[in-house]
Amino acid sequence: MEEKENKSQRFMELQKLPYETKIVYAASKACEFYDKLNGKVFCSVGGLDSITLLLFLRKYVDPEIPGVSVSSLEDKSIQRVHREMDNLVILRPYKSKVQVLREHGYPIISKDIAGKIQLIQNPTEKNSTVRHAIMTGQTGEQGGYKKSPYMEMPQKWKELFCGHENEKYGTDYRIAPFKVSPDCCYHMKEKPCDDYARDSGRYVYMGLMASEGGRREKALIAHGCNYYGKTVIRSCPFAIFTRTDLLQLALDLEVPVPKIYGRIEKQPDGTLETTRAKRTGCTMCGFGIHLEKRPHRFDRLRQDNPKSWHFWMYRMGWGEVLDYIGVPWESKYVGYKQVALPLIV
Ligand code: SF4
Repeated sequence: MEEKENKSQRFMELQKLPYETKIVYAASKACEFYDKLNGKVFCSVGGLDSITLLLFLRKYVDPEIPGVSVSSLEDKSIQRVHREMDNLVILRPYKSKVQVLREHGYPIISKDIAGKIQLIQNPTEKNSTVRHAIMTGQTGEQGGYKKSPYMEMPQKWKELFCGHENEKYGTDYRIAPFKVSPDCCYHMKEKPCDDYARDSGRYVYMGLMASEGGRREKALIAHGCNYYGKTVIRSCPFAIFTRTDLLQLALDLEVPVPKIYGRIEKQPDGTLETTRAKRTGCTMCGFGIHLEKRPHRFDRLRQDNPKSWHFWMYRMGWGEVLDYIGVPWESKYVGYKQVALPLIV
């Protein structure tokens, strides 16, 4: 416990370092990882954070480090930047997104909640203890009869998804008319990347930052920038960065910023921010969508690619899913700046 607190304290101190010192620290961690693995490394590349990481690694560690990307999952403007990059290995997802949605279910809310909903939607004798913990927070005999706030599903989501358990708990929750699953990333990204790593004998650099919060923050604080575990070996040199550090580095390295992010601009409080998307995942991902203000990622897709938007919302059921979790999407977002057309007189 004390060790955990010390680690977290030390990590927070590193997060407070000035930008220039963080760059030196990140470069030293990246070099340490490279040396330890005899240069058998690669950089996992997706959006702006990891594009920046690849250019950073090529500048400070080794100009030959390969990038690896499941590029087809990203926004078109990101794919365009990928195509311009040297030595970028393009992997294909093992299943199409349509297949993943149909066979496994929709990735919504967060990986953690989606995993819990998946268990509730697929009850078995084997998962009954976990389902009980999801419903009540009580961990049962196996978990030492504790109350775990992490295990219990937030009430809001119980009401929408936990109707399968009504009889047992005397509740009046709803049953969603669609499947939910956290497995999308595994089939689309993780497995192809893991297989690449295994087949090539290389180890991964990732552009994750603890300041993004959630599970990532906990894992980065627990394991630090470089982690050499039994089953996982990885380096996250930007672990201690804030978003402003990352964007400052992108400016310093003259990283090509994909159109979906807009421009990098200084905010009134001195931080840096992108003028359009803040974070991107795949174009059609529901993780975190309930927390986004409009124009959210589905609005942006509507503006950039109305045909694709129509397909996903109406034909692939995303509209129904968003309605169900209370995310507005059908009313057109009207706050985009219109380009003034010259008057013809
Ligand atoms: S980011 Fe979202 S859509 Fe993309 S693979 Fe992961 S869960 Fe699927």
